[in-house]
Amino acid sequence: MSRSQFASDIPALAAALRAGNRAALAQAITLVESRRSDHQASARELVQQLLPDTGKAVRVGITGSPGVGKSTTIDALGMYLIGLGQKVAVLAVDPSSARTGGSILGDKTRMAQLSASDAAFIRPSPSAGTLGGVAAKTREAMLLCEAAGFDVVLVETVGIGQSETAVCDMTDFFLALMLPGAGDELQGIKKGLVELADMIAVNKADGDNIPRANAAAAEYRAALHILAPRSEHWHPPVVTYSALTGDGIAGLWQKVLDHRKAMNASSDFAARRREQQVKWMWSMLEERLKSRLRADPAIRAKVRQTEAGVADGRMTPALAADTIARLLEAP
Ligand code: GDP
Repeated sequence: MSRSQFASDIPALAAALRAGNRAALAQAITLVESRRSDHQASARELVQQLLPDTGKAVRVGITGSPGVGKSTTIDALGMYLIGLGQKVAVLAVDPSSARTGGSILGDKTRMAQLSASDAAFIRPSPSAGTLGGVAAKTREAMLLCEAAGFDVVLVETVGIGQSETAVCDMTDFFLALMLPGAGDELQGIKKGLVELADMIAVNKADGDNIPRANAAAAEYRAALHILAPRSEHWHPPVVTYSALTGDGIAGLWQKVLDHRKAMNASSDFAARRREQQVKWMWSMLEERLKSRLRADPAIRAKVRQTEAGVADGRMTPALAADTIARLLEAP
């Protein structure tokens, strides 16, 4: 079935996707990512139809600086999960794709074993103009993966503030990967990343690195002690592991499951998902209003003119905001 056929036959696409058809899943994500307004309307209808089939996956966000071992970790963790009989989807929120249209994350070649497995589905980051746009599309892609029967969705991002918050806001568990060694520890704390993390995992704890990994872990533990945890039912643990040898991967996953159990027992889990849903509604609305301001050339010109007035001090920000808000009112 061609993409356009699917776009006009949403029930057929939904049925194929529910049956676990990978081509249907890929096409559905393409539909979600499309900027054409008819595709966007179809995508909304599709996700709404599939809504009862969503929400069942374990959603894990994974962040870390370039070179920390994100792709090696996702490859190892993904294969471990597949060994347990799970189906694993890997998505990415790449803040650089929003700026440059390129993608440094989610490239299949970075996860050699997973990309060869039938039980895995890897999709690179969408490139949709703004970070908000990229994140919104990734979240919809995650819902589609859930409807297609994926048990675990791993959402990868690089360590840049806003994209981390976006991924944290769409996942149940946010995992921060760190390197063994000096300097890195405090860096993570400064960025506020540690406040978001449900666990810190120090990678590359193998060979000569083991003592340095343990030392880094001890520093993170000390740092976490002085921060108030986000939930009274979960104190973010610090673990060490090696994505290369696989040592500690099972323990790492066990923590994800322990967290889920603790959150479910205390109803924090449902609360986090509820809050996320509402947050997403507002962020999508914001995106939509902003894109309306960008879409019409006449409105765009008026917005630029108003913005210039604020910059020059000729107009107060309050009056300017009011002027722009009026542009959004139906003619
Ligand atoms: P990413 O940029 O965060 O995706 O990092 P990569 O997964 O591409 O890994 C960066 C480099 O670190 C590669 O050369 C990996 O082989 C290496 N690496 C990743 N995990 C480990 C590990 O557990 N131990 C060691 N010694 N090297 C690792």
